[in-house]
Order: sequence, then C-alpha cells, then structure tokens
Amino acid sequence: MSLDQEARLKALGLWPIWRLRASSPAVPGALERDEPVVDTGAATGPAEAGPAEAGLDRGPVPPVEDVPPPPSIAELDWDGLADAVARCTRCPLHASRTQGVLGVGDRQADWLIIGEAPGADEDRLGEPFVGQAGKLLDAMLAAMALKRGQDVYIANVLKSRPPGNRDPQHEEVAACIAYLERQIDLIRPRLILVLGRIAAQSLLNSTDSIARMRGRLHVYRGIPVVVTYHPAYLLRNLPDKAKAWDDLCLARTTMERLKSTQETS
Ligand code: URA
Repeated sequence: MSLDQEARLKALGLWPIWRLRASSPAVPGALERDEPVVDTGAATGPAEAGPAEAGLDRGPVPPVEDVPPPPSIAELDWDGLADAVARCTRCPLHASRTQGVLGVGDRQADWLIIGEAPGADEDRLGEPFVGQAGKLLDAMLAAMALKRGQDVYIANVLKSRPPGNRDPQHEEVAACIAYLERQIDLIRPRLILVLGRIAAQSLLNSTDSIARMRGRLHVYRGIPVVVTYHPAYLLRNLPDKAKAWDDLCLARTTMERLKSTQETS
C-alpha cells in the first residue's frame, strides 16, 4: 500500500480499523492458492511440437530449461486474461459450462461490482448479471446514478457456472479467484461493491455472515469495499431492500468522499 493510499484511507477514517485480517480464512482453499498455472497456449510451443512432428524446420528445439514458463495469471493483460478464462480448465466446472464469463464494463471504472458466479443466462450470453438479478442490479446502479457498461465494471468471483446454480465450492473459488485479483489490479477501482455473502467471504477472506459484513466499510488491498445483499436474494426478500439501500448510500457517500479527498490532495 502506498503512503498516498494510506493517507486517503486515514482521511476517510478507515485506517487501520478495518484492515483485512491475515488469518481466519473464509474459504479455506482460498488461502492455499498456489501459483496459478494458466493454459495460455504457450505450452504448445517448441518443446511440445518440435519440427519433426510438425514437418517444419523451425530450428533446434531449445532445452527444457530455456523454454519460458507460461505467464502467471498475475502477469496477464486483458487479452491474456480473456484468453486464459476462455481456455481455463483449472476446476471441473469447465466441463459443464458453455463459456467462461470474464466480466463487462469500463476497464478503468471507479466502481467495481463483484457477484458470485454466472447463472444460466450469463453462461449462455457470456456476460455477468443479464438475468432477473441483473435487472435488479441495473436498478440498484441507477439509484446511484450509475450505468452498466459506462460507469462500472461488473465481474464475478467464479468465471464458470456451477451446475444448477448451486453455491460455489471452496476448491472452485480457490482455483478461480486469481482471475478476479488480476482484474482488480488492472482496473484499480476507487471502490468495490460486493454482492452477497459468498462473494464477500471470498474476497475478504472472512467467515462472517452477510449481516455482520454489510453496513460498514472494509478494505481490500487499500481499496474501500462495501458489502450488500445479492440482488437474487433481494428478489426473494423484499424487506431487506431497505438495508441494501443503506449500503448503496454508504457506497455513494464513500465514493464522494474519496473523490473530494483525492482532488484536494
Ligand atoms: N448472479 C451472480 O452472482 N452473478 C451473475 O453474473 C449472475 C447472477
């Protein structure tokens, strides 16, 4: 975290009160993430498909130790990330999905919205939050004077649909979260709005209930985070919409304060 970021968080009264805890993983597998292995296609380079098999003279095959390893997810640019998600086989969900769903929106947005995983509509269309929950999300964004595709980037913790819309499993989150982490690094949003318990626990490494996580500010790698209910939950639990409204107000005022402290510093 830079001194600049720390100063901004201090100005918002966020430092160091809600720093991420380094322990107590919400998603046990998530803490055991190993260095990602991405199938970027580089593995089919000269070491595997030599001139003899290909019937082409591409010169001598370099010794194994000279072949650069495929880039890790943390080093990918947007094209590499899209390609890696499209080819990903890091968890069994790749076998049942129609396609990987990377995310949608402004890649330099101030706002990053994070959901749980693609559902049936998202799996078919390749875009997050395009079903009923997505319609409510669009209305929630409109309440904050924000528009999909213009002011926000929308992504999920999982890039592949769990069959039958079941909850993501720990191993699936552990296998997939590096993509989201890379998206956050590339976007560098001013604020993250997290939708629902599973997304919040996965991002914040927490086991807390949504009731404990919502209504206050968290910090992820120096970025303020607001947690609220998932729109699909709100469709079934209308009374909790009032609490979600409070969370959106918290997000909005936090963004305003962030912008004003950044302008004056
Ligand atoms: N629910 C999510 O969490 N994400 C989507 O993309 C759609 C529904």
